[in-house]
Amino acid sequence: MTPKQREAYLQQLLALHAELSGKAPQRIEPNRTDDARVGGDEDEQPLNEMMQAIASSRNRNTDGVLARVVKALGKLREDPDSFGECEECGDDIPTGRLQAMPYAEFCVACQGGKDGPKARATRRKLTDYT
Ligand SMILES: [Zn+2]
Repeated sequence: MTPKQREAYLQQLLALHAELSGKAPQRIEPNRTDDARVGGDEDEQPLNEMMQAIASSRNRNTDGVLARVVKALGKLREDPDSFGECEECGDDIPTGRLQAMPYAEFCVACQGGKDGPKARATRRKLTDYT
């Protein structure tokens, strides 16, 4: 990786960091307690709970990316040579992947090995209910 490329990733990461850390956590709407609707539509409750679950999982996801952005920035500062290398196998992470996700920690193969079976198992479980 050339210093120029590294600099481009650094700028990208800094922009991401500013965007993610400056963004207030997504607001979680409390369940409605509107007096006018008491005894009203009971179907609304499960929907609210679902929306809360979605909102909080989005918050967690944003936090995860921010942590990885911070980690990648640390690498660029402390040990620039290790930036862009897979933490698992040490191979270079492909340029396209890094450009899309400058905070990527693993190459596609290693990431797939981490996410894959677990993600697939979760999906299978959900669909088995039907
Ligand atoms: Zn790897």
